Amino acid sequence: MSNIHNEMALENLYEIAIEEDKKGSIDGEINRIAFETGLHADDDRDDILQKIAEDRFELYDSAPNQDPTLKELEARICACGELIEKCPDAYEHMTQGA
Ligand SMILES: [Zn+2]
Repeated sequence: MSNIHNEMALENLYEIAIEEDKKGSIDGEINRIAFETGLHADDDRDDILQKIAEDRFELYDSAPNQDPTLKELEARICACGELIEKCPDAYEHMTQGA
């Protein structure tokens, strides 16, 4: 993956996190990051969303034999905000909404 590609993927993941936050679907994740980092869930919202994007990006980046396209990155996040491979009810969430 090129650096530009990395930056685009990270930016894309950040945009996804913002959208998920608007829908209220990642409150649990936001609270977890706030707890772990000491950031404030409301005051430091942008920083937390950025951290969520970075965490997700690292997960993708550490996955072997993968050079995912942006579309694939997007497709790998369940409607509930979890990665599809981590979500126990991915099929239900993706077909019915989280
Ligand atoms: Zn899910």
